[in-house]
Amino acid sequence: MIHHPAPVLNERWEGYELARDDHHAFVWIWQGFNIRLIAVPHGPDGAWGYDFAWCFPRDPQLVQQAVADWDADTQDEPAGWHKRPTHEIRRAPRRDDDPAYNRARCRHGCYLDEGCRTVNCPDLEHARSTPEGTA
Ligand SMILES: [Zn+2]
Repeated sequence: MIHHPAPVLNERWEGYELARDDHHAFVWIWQGFNIRLIAVPHGPDGAWGYDFAWCFPRDPQLVQQAVADWDADTQDEPAGWHKRPTHEIRRAPRRDDDPAYNRARCRHGCYLDEGCRTVNCPDLEHARSTPEGTA
């Protein structure tokens, strides 16, 4: 994971790249009332789509700090987001090194074992009705 000292303009996505690892560039873009942090794959695929994304409040400093604090090698996702718009959930290459951080989260970014701030969170309902808890 390489963090840039200052955000780097990404003209294709009209956003700012904060960091990159071996597979993705992590770029934030304005998205309605949110900021969306997107994981853009290196190579030609990155011109057309992104693999993962997380919505944050509309505060560039907050997003920059979240990415600066994030160890993408051991931590699946950055902290502080409030919606995960992609179906696929990122898995860090060495996620077993930080099992506490990588506990299951719902689509709103909350840990399932701590509950969700969203009323009737469907992921929480599912976890409750599954015998082992966090399937
Ligand atoms: Zn939730």
